[in-house]
Amino acid sequence: MFKIFYLTCFLFLAGCTTIGFHQTSLRNSMSFGEEVNIRVCVIREPGIEPEEIQSLFTAWNEELSLYHLKAEPIPLAIMERPGFYGSDIIEYLVNKKMPEFCDRMLYLKGRTWGDIAYEVFTLGLFVGVGVKLEIQGAVETRTNTKGYIKAKYISTIQLLFTSPKSTLVHEGYHLLGCGHQLLMKECYERIRDVKLLLTDPKRDPNFFPNINAEGIKIVTRPI
Ligand SMILES: [Zn+2]
Repeated sequence: MFKIFYLTCFLFLAGCTTIGFHQTSLRNSMSFGEEVNIRVCVIREPGIEPEEIQSLFTAWNEELSLYHLKAEPIPLAIMERPGFYGSDIIEYLVNKKMPEFCDRMLYLKGRTWGDIAYEVFTLGLFVGVGVKLEIQGAVETRTNTKGYIKAKYISTIQLLFTSPKSTLVHEGYHLLGCGHQLLMKECYERIRDVKLLLTDPKRDPNFFPNINAEGIKIVTRPI
C-alpha cells in the first residue's frame, strides 16, 4: 500500500483545504529566485473540458506566482478511471512512466453515478458523525510528483467546504514537496529548497526537481 496524503475535511475547520496558514511578511522576506515553468502532464476523465482545466490552472498559478513558479498544463491522455478508489488512481500513476516532457503528472477525476451514490453515503456519515472524510485528492509520497484531484463537483454540499480549485492548490503544494503544517514557514522553505535544486549538478536539466515527503532529493525523473 502506498503512503499518500489524504485531504480530510473537518466540520469545524472552515479552511479545510489549506495545508497551513500563510505568513505573508515572512514569505515576502524570502527569495524564491527567478520564475520557472513546471510542465504538468494532465490525464483527464471523459467529461472534463479543456476550459475547466484552464480555469483550474489559472487558480493554481495565482498561488504559484507567490513563489515565482508557473504550472503549464500539457494534455497527456483522456481515459476512464483505473479504479473506483483514490488508491487505485495513485497506484496507476506510480506505475505509469512519466514522459520526458513532463515534470509532474496530474490525474483529473470526474464524477460518475457511482461517485454520486458514494457521496450520498459519506454525506450520511457527515450528518451522523459530524466529520466529512471524503477524499478530494492525493499525491504519492515516494517522489511527490504524481497525484490526482476530483475535478468535478456539481451543486453538492461539498461546495460549501471545498472546490476543485482549492483542492488543486492544496495538492499542488504536495507536488512541491510540502506536507501539512499549522504555519506555512516549513513549506516556504521547502519550495525555496526545491528551486535551489535547479542548480544541483546531479539534476537532470530536463526535469523540475522535488524533495519527497521524507526529505529525499528527487533530481531525476521518476519512472
Ligand atoms: Zn494534503
